[in-house]
Amino acid sequence: MFTFCSILRSTMTSPDRHPDFGARGRAARTNRPGRFERHDREAVSDGWDIPEDVPTLRTTVDLERPRSVITRNASPDVPFDRSINPYRGCEHGCIYCFARPTHAYLGLSPGLDFETRLIARPEAPEALVRELRAKSYRPAVIAIGTNTDPYQPIEKTHQIMRRILKVLRDFRHPVGIVTKGSLIERDIDILSDMARVGLTHVGISVTTLDPEVSRAMEPRVPAPARRLQTIRRLSDAGIPVRVMVAPVVPALTDHELEAILEAGAKAGAQAASWVMLRLPREVSELFREWVEEQFPDRAARIMGRVRSLHGGRDYDPEWGKRMTGEGPFADLVRHRFAVATRRLGLDQPLTPLRTDLFRPPPQAGDQLSLF
Ligand code: SF4
Repeated sequence: MFTFCSILRSTMTSPDRHPDFGARGRAARTNRPGRFERHDREAVSDGWDIPEDVPTLRTTVDLERPRSVITRNASPDVPFDRSINPYRGCEHGCIYCFARPTHAYLGLSPGLDFETRLIARPEAPEALVRELRAKSYRPAVIAIGTNTDPYQPIEKTHQIMRRILKVLRDFRHPVGIVTKGSLIERDIDILSDMARVGLTHVGISVTTLDPEVSRAMEPRVPAPARRLQTIRRLSDAGIPVRVMVAPVVPALTDHELEAILEAGAKAGAQAASWVMLRLPREVSELFREWVEEQFPDRAARIMGRVRSLHGGRDYDPEWGKRMTGEGPFADLVRHRFAVATRRLGLDQPLTPLRTDLFRPPPQAGDQLSLF
């Protein structure tokens, strides 16, 4: 039996949450506080040898009313300057997710909280309309899914992504989507309309073809074969698709690079990309705990390889290096990717999306302005 030796300060974190709560079906092993929390909790034995039922963690969803939804960035190593996040947190729960540290800004843990305490922004489509109608707005590709997945399971209920897509279609605004969720197939009707005029393409991330590794690493993401089927369905509907080997996990999945690219090409992908495993901030410790539990025989090798990519550290956030790492192993992956994509005809980027079609649709009262 365990007791808590202190209470969490956060207003959003339940005081009844055990820091090492039952994590069945989740990737993070712990719920350690984020870097802004002033107090930690630690489970200590009270000496009673009484077996406890550890409750299963359920997913909860809070709502947020955003004043604006388009987030700008000036990062020189990402190919877009704006993005939208319909949700905060992601129930897909990939252990390697580099968005985990953003949960610390909410007073929540980048560990289990990130996978279970989600925030939906149901009024995001209306906020988007306001932003796109602003006289000063200039169109450029909006990226969706580059932080948290817009097609995570709660989208089925909330349908925020679908309503955002309808807005973008009505405004003829270009959008690039990244997802692992097969729920995107629900929106093929909208996406194929947009693709027909060069307003959308999709990246589907396939990290491994091994369902067991995937289940451990990305517990609530559709299985690899299901993601390949999504590539096929999008491609058959005329939507350009890129297969993303993202991330490559050194000494765990890197040997699958060519096989994933081949499977993606066979499913209809027209382009490909890769990103090396990134372990920023709290993700480093969460990943280490996970890999030591799930792959104890390989953990030291995996972490050693990771550090060899970043000059002896778990992660180097420097622009230009953070996506690939550097050194012989990074060079080898880069070379293998180049050879395989050339052989498979995946070595060209997708056709750039169009911005010249942007046109706010008429709204009530517009006619009056003619007189
Ligand atoms: S699907 Fe993407 S956003 Fe969601 S947990 Fe996995 S890596 Fe993070």
